[in-house]
Amino acid sequence: MPRPILATISTSNMAHNLRTVQQHIAQQVGAARFERTKTFAVAKANGYGHGIEAAVQGFAAADGIAVIETEMLARLRELGWHKELVLLEGFFEKADLELLQHTRSITAIHCQEQLDELRSLPAGAALKVMLKVNTGMNRLGFRPELLSSVLTQLAQLQSQAKVSEVIMMMHFADADAFDRDSVDDAWARMQQALQQAQLRQFRIESLSVCNSAASLRYADDLLLEGYRNIIRPGLCLYGASPMGNAEHEAAIDFNLKPAMTLKAQIIAIQQVRAGETVGYGSRFTAQEPTRIAIVACGYADGYPRWADASTPVVVNGIETTLAGRVSMDMMSINLNPVPSAKLGDWVTLWGEGGPTIDRVTECARMGSYETLCHLNLRVPKEII
Ligand SMILES: *Cc1c(COP(=O)(O)O)cnc(C)c1O
Repeated sequence: MPRPILATISTSNMAHNLRTVQQHIAQQVGAARFERTKTFAVAKANGYGHGIEAAVQGFAAADGIAVIETEMLARLRELGWHKELVLLEGFFEKADLELLQHTRSITAIHCQEQLDELRSLPAGAALKVMLKVNTGMNRLGFRPELLSSVLTQLAQLQSQAKVSEVIMMMHFADADAFDRDSVDDAWARMQQALQQAQLRQFRIESLSVCNSAASLRYADDLLLEGYRNIIRPGLCLYGASPMGNAEHEAAIDFNLKPAMTLKAQIIAIQQVRAGETVGYGSRFTAQEPTRIAIVACGYADGYPRWADASTPVVVNGIETTLAGRVSMDMMSINLNPVPSAKLGDWVTLWGEGGPTIDRVTECARMGSYETLCHLNLRVPKEII
């Protein structure tokens, strides 16, 4: 028998989340602008830990899938994904160009070296590219004031049929922040980049600006009339909110449903006396006689190690909390609120019928991004 822990991945909830985000945007921007909006679902890091197969099924209605890993391009084609594919960080060496052609993928272009390598393409092999503008995050991309030479080179590559369409792309550093100033600054730099293109009469028909947070919060301002807008939501499609558990901006407020439900079985029960402690570091001290359940999930499975004593779990429909530090393969929970609980019962750690992943990770002072993609390979996955 496999170890009694299970991650259930709901592709129908993933499809629901995709529809929900699209409906939310349609409401914000109106039917006309929404009609020209495309969605590239972000599925890097093995679909944020959910598995690339689940992403292909769950996001079947998306217009494209975006990843970071070159090897995923061929894998996604093998899995039958026939719509757009995007390499968000661009290619890493010249040899990757063949793969891009072979898999008919769009690549981000963020530095001069990549432009140089595009010149080596055979004429007629035109690739669609996303020109990444550095709008202040200072991670990848060209600064708007330096775009002039880049656009000249791209125009030349287009005339040689080495590049086809150029989509202009940016990425926000702070779209999830309470304060909007950083978003406004970045957006002003994007306008500057668009002006550079207009000045040079360089055709830009498509823009790709919004991650999850920007899609959920600022679509009305950021989906520009006169362009085809491509949103790139990731986290929200998996049912978590980039704003975490914030008031009015939690997953439930956006009607998002969990893509992953993590459950594990109770494999032992201890009856401890008042004053006794539980687990490594003796961090939990029983205030009264306490029934403790040992559950088959630990930080090696991907559960956050620093989840504190207030971290919720659900047993038989009743919420209780952790008791003591999470260990590598097990955790202990307080069963006093759940007298009916017995050996072999399943405990919901997050997801459907349990706490949201955003609540759990907040108790560990982490984000749902890292927790979801930390799900360990040893955890059996069931895709439904
Ligand atoms: C990861 C990523 C996204 C998706 O971000 P979320 O916050 O998960 O929506 C979008 N664009 C780029 C370039 C990314 O790297």
